[in-house]
Amino acid sequence: MADSNRLLSRRDFLKNTAAGAIGATAMLTTCQATAKATDVAAQVPQRPFGSTGIDVPILSFGGSLNTSLSMLVLNQAVKWGVTYWDTANSYMGGRSEKGMGKYLEKFPADRQRIFLVTKTHAWDTEGMSRDLNLSLERLQTDYIDLYFMHSVSSGSELTDDKKAWAEKKKADGKIRLFGFSTHSNMEECMLTASRLGWIDGIMMSYNYRLMHTDEMQQATDACARAGIGLTAMKSQGGGQVRTDTQSELELAGRYMKKGFTDAQARLKAVWESPHIASICTEMPNMTLLMSNVAAALDKTTLSARDLNLLQQYACETRSSYCSGCTAICESAIDGDVPIGDVMRYLMYARSYGDHHRARAQFQKIPLHIRRKMKGTDYKPAEQGCPQKMAIGQLMRQALEELG
Ligand code: SF4
Repeated sequence: MADSNRLLSRRDFLKNTAAGAIGATAMLTTCQATAKATDVAAQVPQRPFGSTGIDVPILSFGGSLNTSLSMLVLNQAVKWGVTYWDTANSYMGGRSEKGMGKYLEKFPADRQRIFLVTKTHAWDTEGMSRDLNLSLERLQTDYIDLYFMHSVSSGSELTDDKKAWAEKKKADGKIRLFGFSTHSNMEECMLTASRLGWIDGIMMSYNYRLMHTDEMQQATDACARAGIGLTAMKSQGGGQVRTDTQSELELAGRYMKKGFTDAQARLKAVWESPHIASICTEMPNMTLLMSNVAAALDKTTLSARDLNLLQQYACETRSSYCSGCTAICESAIDGDVPIGDVMRYLMYARSYGDHHRARAQFQKIPLHIRRKMKGTDYKPAEQGCPQKMAIGQLMRQALEELG
């Protein structure tokens, strides 16, 4: 980990920012003063992004929100070294990119410091060029540091025409690096990428539930050997730790004693992996930014017992978390119903409390598929599901809650 010599303890961080005493609301009103106080002291540490020669902060700003409303947060993020910004052509109908563009127009000197990532949903190179040009315009920049194909779900999507496109855009100076994000069948996508030689970076779902499986460990090892930079997303692995069982109670109590929340502990668990360059997480307000920066600056590591308990908790609650292995369940029921996507939308609603996004995404599923969802027999999918999820019941609940 580079730059560790500038780390502050969490207590020092809170003391310097006066957050413990004045609270998050007051913090917003004293942003300028706070920023000044922490300019020199607090910088999120960095790690190398694969073998690209670029170091990135271990915490990145997830921009799946209307960033036009987050100018203060973006400004403070830069001051604390959260200079890896992630957005997408599709986020908030373009308002995420436009907001970041507005920021860069106002603070042009910050462009050099920011590792800017955006994504395209286009599946042909013509559409990718169109999306890239639009993103450059919205973001008010001449180049993108890392350009992603959005939501790749099979290694077969990494075709030679995409490789040629990426090489051309790099030569033209429009992008520096190329890669993809993935929520489904991540391990297969990552293994394929590790053999190709032209993928620079991948952002995948990765958290305390997924990181210890043999498949994910093989995939991250292979990417690390291939020099691919890895960014973790969905790092919370679902909702808050509950306190229904003895192990859950013990887990919550241990974190409290150590002075961090379970959300911060989950970030720490992911940073335990040396293969992860950065965690991308949404930080729509100063409170979350502060909490995550504090976790990144804090030198306390999770003990072996903490990590074991977290794994035990993951086992006990596995039927509440979809691990994205859609090749198993979707093919068992003829492949039309996007089970993995629906599970993710339910997670947005139930774990993140983001009902608006959950409904908006769900409504994009074609009507005839939504109708088909109702009458489908999900038993074959449930039999193959490694997480033992009640798929049929959850699909019906999604239709009721999000339809
Ligand atoms: S429902 Fe089960 S089989 Fe389907 S993607 Fe989720 S965890 Fe995998």
